[in-house]
Order: sequence, then structure tokens, then C-alpha cells
Amino acid sequence: MPLAKLFDYALPEGMPARVGDRVVVPFGARQRLGIVAEIDAASDLPVSRMKAIAAVRDDAPPLPDDWLQLMHFLSGYYQRPLGETMISALPPRLRSVRPLPRKSLSSASATSSARFVPTHALTPDQTRAFERVLEAYGRFEAFLLHGITGSGKTEVYLNLIARALERGGQALVLVPEISLTPQLEGRFCQAFPEVRLAVMHSALEDVARTSGWLEAARGEAGIVLGTRLGVLAPLPKLALIVVDEEHDPSFKQQEGLRYSARDAAVYRAKLAGCPVVLGSATPSLESWHNWRAGRYERLELPERAAPGARLPAVRIVDLGRESAEQGIAASLWSALAARVEKNEQSLIFINRRGYAPVLACENCGWTAGCTRCSARMVLHAADRRLRCHHCGAESAIPRACPTCGNVDLKPVGRGTQRIEEALQARFPAARIVRIDRDSARRRGELTRTLDGIRRGEGDILVGTQLLAKGHDFPGLTLVGVLNADTALVSTDYRAPERLFAVLAQVAGRAGRRERPGEVLVQTRYPGHPLFGALARHDFSGFADSQLAERRAAGFPPYVFEAALRAEARKLERAMRFLREAAAVAAVPDEVHVFDPVPNTLTRRAGLERAQLLVQSSSRPALQAFLGDLSDKLFAQAERDVRWHLDVDPIEFD
Ligand code: ADP
Ligand code: ZN
Ligand code: ZN
Repeated sequence: MPLAKLFDYALPEGMPARVGDRVVVPFGARQRLGIVAEIDAASDLPVSRMKAIAAVRDDAPPLPDDWLQLMHFLSGYYQRPLGETMISALPPRLRSVRPLPRKSLSSASATSSARFVPTHALTPDQTRAFERVLEAYGRFEAFLLHGITGSGKTEVYLNLIARALERGGQALVLVPEISLTPQLEGRFCQAFPEVRLAVMHSALEDVARTSGWLEAARGEAGIVLGTRLGVLAPLPKLALIVVDEEHDPSFKQQEGLRYSARDAAVYRAKLAGCPVVLGSATPSLESWHNWRAGRYERLELPERAAPGARLPAVRIVDLGRESAEQGIAASLWSALAARVEKNEQSLIFINRRGYAPVLACENCGWTAGCTRCSARMVLHAADRRLRCHHCGAESAIPRACPTCGNVDLKPVGRGTQRIEEALQARFPAARIVRIDRDSARRRGELTRTLDGIRRGEGDILVGTQLLAKGHDFPGLTLVGVLNADTALVSTDYRAPERLFAVLAQVAGRAGRRERPGEVLVQTRYPGHPLFGALARHDFSGFADSQLAERRAAGFPPYVFEAALRAEARKLERAMRFLREAAAVAAVPDEVHVFDPVPNTLTRRAGLERAQLLVQSSSRPALQAFLGDLSDKLFAQAERDVRWHLDVDPIEFD
């Protein structure tokens, strides 16, 4: 139950329940699934007044000790009830009181061999990184694999996994998105044709998710490839953890148990006594700081692995000097034309889907807004709809301005669809391929499109961040970046870090083979140091200067943070809840509680939102305060306010 307590049940004589067993218990009028957390001879409650455990489930392996320890840690660290933490870590089918059907119990034959089919002989840099991690097998050590885009990090992972399997161990590989990088799964299957690979992500159907989990829990799956939730799977023979693209914000869960899968992975590696490899071209500043502080060891891959491949040349296009047509600067238009001429692929990156972010009346200034959010509706021209990207609300495009009746409503700004239209108009014979969350609704379709692009189908790709992640398009030689500036004027101190990572990722799509790549970044702030570092491919310099700024300003990772957030029908109610909450727990000297403020996106899906920030330079002091605070808030049980704590928050919308 989402309650911060454990419930006592009597263990009937002769019933062999142990800690970690899933059990069926009476709860109120119904039966529920529970997990045995402790077995105690004594209880505050007399046995005569206790209800008894109804049944012990043996349809799945009992939850092992190190898994239970991980759950205790996550529950304490992220301030969520233990029961909720454990239950949400199980695949949905195993949360049910219904036992699994018999046939799912039969375990797979353990005849699979660990045969490894390498694709390439490792380069000297790859070998050095590989051998260094190898030395740490059998004990905990954290490595930061800092390898530029195309440096062959995946090849290093595969070699490390092969050695973990050889030793009879299991390897856990966490990636930001699986459904968007279908070729990754393929690469693993090719490299290990006879090894059981369990894939884990939330979009899997119940049956697949349950059987993958069972294979992992029984130690049959040699490799578990998953998104963040993979870190919650029981792995009795865990010997290696890899977190690829460790800087990616999607490793932080944004609801329920708000855990960071990257941080949980490091903790898990400690529990299991195995090495953990955090890989990225643009490590998170937290990990960079951990390396600088001596907690992680950095392994560098400074060059591209494929023969002849170089990092692309990055040019900054000054929009103050160069005119833009349809949002695209003259030099980018001509670079595109040259590629179309030579039959090479180009990619236009614009991180905004839809046709235009605003539909406006030029006559009276009206804009189409969402009735449930403090946000504008985005115009989707393809199916002639207005959509709210925050709550999913939809409506038809109005025929006339609802305020003044003007029938000439204008799209303002640009999204992927509008750029696609402009490109098609300029290059009528070229094949323009748009890739964003709207075009990629169905998984199979995206896979086919991406395969086609790799085979050279498509001349100009237009896409959002979806196109940035991990794809290898051999024929791509030009990348154009359209709207990088919004992040530069953001009030979020993490915006530059994210922008650098995204730009380095998209830029990394260009020139991955012999033909050199070129990247054009359009901006109104050509002198911004971020662009200088990007053009020099100098992540280290950028990271160090960002850390210096964070230290001077007193931001993480130099202080620790948590956010208390509240949602209510009326903003004043949410604000009052936060003001009162700040007073229920005693605030230690090392902890600073800021005043509550409304969120930037104050209204979302019909609820008003506010938050207060808690900061401390002492992690123990912060944790003690949060523990006290959440105990008191859970005890209060307010009905008209929804609240949660977010420890180490990274989103502040
Ligand atoms: P990263 O994940 O670091 O961006 P990848 O692992 O995707 O890089 O590798 C980039 C490209 O380099 C791939 O096409 C891969 O096949 C190739 N590659 C990797 N290692 C080697 C190697 N040792 N020799 C030749 N090519 C390699
Ligand atoms: Zn109007
Ligand atoms: Zn909305």
C-alpha cells in the first residue's frame, strides 16, 4: 500500500515463508499480494488479533537478499514507502494475487553457450579501456567511459559482456530508449547468438515482460538489456553493469518512485561487488564531478573507431548577419543543395514537433491556448488539429478567431512539419523523411524507416531529438541545427549542459565513415562560449567551466537538492500546503528550505502546481530532514492536495 508502514501478519504453522517471498494476504475485504519484508518473533500486535498469511507464491523465485537491500535503499533515499517501492519494481503480472500459469514456470534449458562473435578487432584505445575494466572484475569499481560519438563504446561493452558471460555471470545493460534504437538489440543478438537476452522496457506486453523478468531472476538470461526499470530486476549472478548514454535525463523516473537508474546502478554494483561502466560522449556533470573527485575512474576514447572517420567540422551560423528564409539560413540552404546534388544525406535538427508552436490572430493578438494547462496549443497541419503537448488535449482548428471573428489565423514559429514542407518546396525531387514522435507512433514503422535511411533511402531527414540518439547513418554528411537558442536563454541552470549533450549527439551523426561531415548551427548568440567549445569538440573544457559556475553559484553537484511539489485545483491551496509543510518538520542548521513558488507551467491537466526547494551541503542532514518531513506529511493525509518529494530533481517545469 502507498503507506509508510509495514503490516503484520501471522505465519501459520507449517507454512514455509521466508523474507523475500511473495505472499497472498487478506487486506480489508479483499486479498492482496504482499512481500515478506521481515520475520519477527515479537510484534506490537498480539498474534490472536493478527490476520494470517493465506498463501505463499512459488510461481517465481523468491526475491533475493541484494534485491531487498536495493529496495530498502531506494525507499529510504527517495522517500517512498517500502511496499510501493517493491511492488512497483515487479512486472505488473507478478503484482497480482493470481498465480502465473504453470507453463511459465518451466525454466529454459541452460544449454546456451557464451559464444561471442566480435565485429572488429579493438583499437588500441578500446583495448586499454577494456583491459582496465577487466582488472576490476569480481569487485566494485566505477568507470566513466568518456568516448566521443563513433568512438566504438558499444564494441567495448560487447567485449566486456563476453568476459562476464565467460565467468558465468550476468550483464546488465541500461540504455535510455530501446524502442527508438532497434538496431541495438540486433547488435547484441549478432554478437551473442546463443545467449539468452532479456529485453526490459515499459512498452513490452505483460507476457514478454514477465518472462524476461523470470529469466533474469532465475539467472538464465545472460544479458539484460533494459531502460531504467532494468536496474530493478533481480540478477543473482550479476557481474557487470553498463549504463550507456549515462547523461540522459530519461534515466530519472518522473513519477512514483523518482529514482535515478544511473545512481541506482552504481549502488547496485556496490552491493553485487562488480564493476559499473558509465558511458557517454558528454558525461553528466555529476559523473564528471565524481571523476574529478576521485570516486570514478575515467577511460577515454578520443577518436572515432571506424577507419578514416573524423569528427565533423562545426560551423556557427550567425543569424544576426545572415538572413534566413523559412527559418533556414542562406548558407545552410546552399549546403543542403550541395548534398542533394552529390547524393549525400543531410539531417535538419529542430527540437519541436508539429507544424507551428502557436496559432495566432494577427488582428487582436489572440492565441490558441489549452483550457487545462498554462500552455499554448501546437498546430498539427498534417491532420489539421491543435494539440497540447503537456496534457494531450486536442481540438479542431477554429475557422475564425473566437475573440474578434477574424478568419485569417496565422501559424507562428516552426516545427518539424513546417520545415519538412519548406524543404519539399525547395527540393521537389528530393526524398524528405520526417522523424518525430508523431511519425514514429508505431514501432515497426520507425524501424523500417531507420533501416531505409541506413540503406540510403531519404535525402534530407528532418527530426527532433529522436534522430539524435545513437543512430549510425553511414551516408550522412551534413547536420543543420535550427533552434538551439531557446536553451541559452532558459532560467534552468541545467539547460547548457543538456544543450551541449544534444548538439554533440546530433553533430555526431555526421561523417561516421570516410566522407567528412559538416555541422551548421544557427544562432543569434554566435559568441556564446558553449558554441566555441562545441566547435572545438572540447567537452572537458566545457564541463570544467560549467562546474566552476555551479560551484560559485551553489548549485548541484556542490549542494544536494530535493523538491517538495504540490498540485491542487486552486493554486492558493497548493501554496498553503507547501507553506504549512515547511513548518511541520524541524529544519536542521545545514538545511535550507526556500519559499514555495508556482511552477513555470503552473497549470497542467487542470491542476495548479507549486513547489519548494530544499538544499543542503550535507547529504545526511538533507536525508534526515526529508525522512522526518515525509513521515509527517504521510501521517497528515490531505485529501484535496496531491504531493510528492523529488530527491535530486532534474526537471523543474
Ligand atoms: P559509439 O557508441 O561510441 O558512438 P559505436 O560503437 O556505435 O560508437 O561505433 C561507431 C562505428 O565504429 C560503428 O560503425 C562500429 O561498427 C565502428 N567500430 C567500432 N569499433 C571499431 C573498430 N575497432 N574498428 C573498426 N570499426 C569500429
Ligand atoms: Zn482575433
Ligand atoms: Zn494541456
